[in-house]
Amino acid sequence: MKNALDMARTAHSETQDNKHSPENEVPVGAVIVQKGKVIASAHNLVRTTCDPTAHAEIVAIRAAAAALNTTHLVDCDIYVTLEPCAMCAQALAWSRIRRLYFGAYDMKGGAIENGAKVLNHSHTKIEVYGGIGEIEANILLVEFFKKRRQMNQFSNGFA
Ligand SMILES: [Zn+2]
Repeated sequence: MKNALDMARTAHSETQDNKHSPENEVPVGAVIVQKGKVIASAHNLVRTTCDPTAHAEIVAIRAAAAALNTTHLVDCDIYVTLEPCAMCAQALAWSRIRRLYFGAYDMKGGAIENGAKVLNHSHTKIEVYGGIGEIEANILLVEFFKKRRQMNQFSNGFA
């Protein structure tokens, strides 16, 4: 989870060259591990790649599948800093990942413990552990959105 949090921080710092731009990546990181070895680490690339599906989990799943040359991530576990959305939850099911560890709960967009609870209806059984490193993951997100609101106010002339 520490690696995933580092990836989330990277998402933020790599994309904040223009400090007045609200176009920074939302700081979410994901790491896929197999037998104690990191197979893939990723962060959100939605804005960077102009791809609304480039969530950290999707980017990590694609990289891990490519690295292992398989569509089934056998014995792989994923660490994500934020509760996955419905799209990512289903992608995790398709990838046959073994365990999901996530940090902050997402009341609005999350679909594991919140919302659609996608994995409860899944054809594959994934072990889920939520709230791992929750406080740190939450602080990252809260600070990011606070900064973004301030920047938006600035660029909108406090309109
Ligand atoms: Zn997602």
